[in-house]
Amino acid sequence: MNFPPEVTIKEVGPRDGLQNERTVVPLDAKVEWINLLSETGMSYIEISSFVRPEWIPQLKDATEVAKRIKRDPNVTYAALVPNQRGLERALEVDIDEVCVFISASETHNLKNVNKTIADTIPIIDKVANEAVQNRKQLRGYISTVFGCPYEGETSIDQVLFICDKLLEMGVQELSIGDTIGVADPLHVENVTKALLNHFPKDRIAMHFHDTRGTALANVITAMNLGISKFDSTVGGLGGCPYAKGASGNLATEDLLYMLHRMGVHTGINSEKVSEAATYISQHVPALSSHQMKLLNS
Ligand code: MG
Repeated sequence: MNFPPEVTIKEVGPRDGLQNERTVVPLDAKVEWINLLSETGMSYIEISSFVRPEWIPQLKDATEVAKRIKRDPNVTYAALVPNQRGLERALEVDIDEVCVFISASETHNLKNVNKTIADTIPIIDKVANEAVQNRKQLRGYISTVFGCPYEGETSIDQVLFICDKLLEMGVQELSIGDTIGVADPLHVENVTKALLNHFPKDRIAMHFHDTRGTALANVITAMNLGISKFDSTVGGLGGCPYAKGASGNLATEDLLYMLHRMGVHTGINSEKVSEAATYISQHVPALSSHQMKLLNS
């Protein structure tokens, strides 16, 4: 095996994790949780989403969260931004990194943002332009890269097309998402190789879900090809909306355990991550079960 000596973990729990949790977490708890995460040595936390509050009531307090958290200068605080109105809100509270998003499959994009891919691209383009003008870092999430709940497997040409578009707009990093957790290592190898044929590896982060228990195997596969940036959520927060009871995002603790055992540097203190997980598990029932599994092991 041929690993990068260092891996960057991007904690997306406060956004991607909470977005799929039904129990509403109080503002104070979100702020305290993000403050605890800031103390773990992580360099990146996605704190919320500036989508319309009616779309995701759980994240309607994005502005307050951004205003109230203690900002560590070594941490990039990112947030999801769907359109110009969202960008205005994100700029008002001086978010470090703006994250745009689009699906690689037409039907998923339509269900997610009520627009075709062709109609979504110009909206993202405007957001990207203005974000860059305001000297914000820019990240692009691509959903359903490995499969779509409505269309099945996604074509790699479609993925490359979207990646190209986002990079042209000034997106610095692409987060390649296995939104429904269907990827297996062989599929990851094929997609990663295709991406690396077209784009430099530092432009690519992988976003795996553990719905079917394949997330860590997928990480190893991508690492073997030189990928060194991975998204995860504390406690695996963020159940899959398409498969009831299924695990959500790859758990940060599981990823850290594996990487540290293998001698891969992350700069993150696992014990402090566990403390942050224990804290938020009081507010999210689904997370408590993952915590219990870890505590009992
Ligand atoms: Mg996710």
